[in-house]
Formats: sequence, C-alpha cells, structure tokens
Amino acid sequence: LAKKEACGTFRVATPDDHAAAQDRLVLGSALRESLAKGLLNLHYQPQVEAKTGALYGVEALSRWHHPHLGNIFPSRFIAVAEDTGQIEAIGAWCLEEACRQIVKWDRDGIVVPAVSVNLSAGHFRKRQLPEMISNLLTQFGIAPTRLTVEITESVMMDEIKDTMDVLHAIRALNVGLSMDDFGTGYSSLSRLTRLPLTEIKIDRSFIMNLEHDANAQAVTTAVIGIGNRLGMTVITEGVETEAQYELLESLHCDVMQGYLFAKPMAPKDLETWYRQPRKIMPAMQKAQAQKQ
Ligand code: C2E
Ligand code: MG
Ligand code: MG
Ligand code: MG
Repeated sequence: LAKKEACGTFRVATPDDHAAAQDRLVLGSALRESLAKGLLNLHYQPQVEAKTGALYGVEALSRWHHPHLGNIFPSRFIAVAEDTGQIEAIGAWCLEEACRQIVKWDRDGIVVPAVSVNLSAGHFRKRQLPEMISNLLTQFGIAPTRLTVEITESVMMDEIKDTMDVLHAIRALNVGLSMDDFGTGYSSLSRLTRLPLTEIKIDRSFIMNLEHDANAQAVTTAVIGIGNRLGMTVITEGVETEAQYELLESLHCDVMQGYLFAKPMAPKDLETWYRQPRKIMPAMQKAQAQKQ
C-alpha cells in the first residue's frame, strides 16, 4: 500500500498508514451505522464574555459513544468521516441538531444567544450549503444570528472561487462566521481581512503558553488588536487558569472559552450550569459594580 504524496511522488507505506487504513475501514462503517441509528450527540461548551461573565454563546462539539468500541474522540472520527465521505452528513446532522436544541432551550427559558457549529473544509465546496442552512433556519423558525459556523484555516487555503462564494452566501444570511484555531495554519493576516468573518478564535496552543512565552503573548496581543480593529469578536480557546483570564482580560479579549468556566456538557448538564451562580472573576465584579 503506497500513499500518493503531493506532486505525484510515492513513498513506502508505514505501520501508521496501515493503522489509518484500518481506522477508515472499521470506524468508517461503524460511523455510518451510528449516524443512521442516531448514536452521535452534541455536547455544548459555554463561551463567556470576559468583562461581565455573561453567556455569549456555546460551541457544539460532536460526541460518539459506540456500543462496542466505546467513546471515540472527535479528533479521530472527524478524520475518518472526512476520509470516508461522511463529513457532509455529519455537518448536516450537527446543524440540524443545534437548531433543534436552540428551539428546545428557548422553550425551556434557557437563554443561549448563539450556537457555534464546526464544519469541515469539504463541506464548503458544496454550493448547496447556504441554502441548506437557510432552509433549516426557516424550518425551525430561528433568527440567523443565533447560529455561527466555524471554519478552519484549511478552508481559506482553498482559494477556489466556489468556496469563497459559499462563505459570502452564508454570511449574507446573517449567520455568524468564525475562524477556528487561528494561528495554527498557514493563513496570513491579510487573507483574514478578505473573508467575511464575524469572529476569530485564537487557538489553545497560544493560550497554554501565554504566561511563559513572549511569542505566544505577542501573537495573541496582535490578533486581539487586529480582530477588534476589523470589528470581529475575538474568542480565546482553552482558558484554564485565573492567571490566563487576568492576562487576556487586560489584553481586551472579548470572549473566553475553556475549562476555567466550563467543559463541554450534555444539554442537561448545561441547563444545570446555566441555573447555577456563574463563576465571577475580580475584573467582572468591577464591571458589575460600575453597572449599579
Ligand atoms: P475545536 O473546534 O477547536 O474545539 C475545541 C476543543 O478544545 C474541544 O475538543 C474542547 O473540548 C477542547 N477544550 C475546550 N476548552 C478546553 C480547555 O480549557 N482545555 C483543554 N485541554 N481543552 C479544551 P473536542 O471536543 O475533543 O474536539 C476536538 C476537535 O474536533 C474540535 O476542535 C473540532 O476541530 C473537531 N470537532 C468536534 N466536533 C466536530 C464536529 O461536529 N464537526 C467537525 N467538523 N469537527 C468537530
Ligand atoms: Mg471549533
Ligand atoms: Mg477551536
Ligand atoms: Mg483548537
């Protein structure tokens, strides 16, 4: 088994390739079956406004528990879905499930301003995507601003006109468009300005090293500055400590997402979290005192 590399060169297959091929075969068909049986579900992670602690939105993250294979991480099954042509089905399922959840929360008096859904690069090559989203919004009676679509930098690498048209058509619906994991790919800041983005999410790898790594801090500071200047909301991922929160707040980061506030949770647990008193940081107390 040899894998085709870029420019038509070949290399000898490694044990890793066999493992990956095995994954595609076994997990690929298990995934198809689970998807059909409705065995995938979404967990939701809160995104919190840095200044006030208010709920800004939640990110929907796929979870798969297979009856025999157990819990399979999204980092693994999303790759399998991409390789086995199932990523669009997963994306469509996520969008629909998120819409259904928004309606349910509205009915139950849980105020979740927006839900963010991750979509893979392949999905954006489909011209039908904007229409599919628009149909879902109509079907569920949801305002477009309640939904955000997260893309990764690999979508931007695709400078095909079709992909760009799809991104603009989604934005024209007034659905949010978020650049996920920013800083990990190869995109340039100038390219960032050419996309109709409403949000930038700075990757966790920068936040992890923030306090001890001058480079991570420089990049984070610059991206927050540029994002704000361009009128985008800047979200930091993977905020785990109060020290990271304090530093990011002082850098004027708008919104934070991470274990410090909450892990991704099943809808029931999110409802419990919603009804509990929120975690209040010292800087938030200041904002609340000023409001009174
Ligand atoms: P992502 O979109 O960047 O999602 C954030 C990931 O960081 C999630 O991992 C989340 O659980 C984790 N995380 C959040 N806060 C913290 C923190 O404070 N510390 C640490 N260590 N981790 C934190 P998860 O759920 O395992 O998902 C991994 C990736 O898989 C996602 O990264 C996303 O790229 C992909 N993914 C998940 N669900 C879907 C999906 O439905 N569709 C697509 N296309 N991709 C998905
Ligand atoms: Mg994401
Ligand atoms: Mg991310
Ligand atoms: Mg990430």
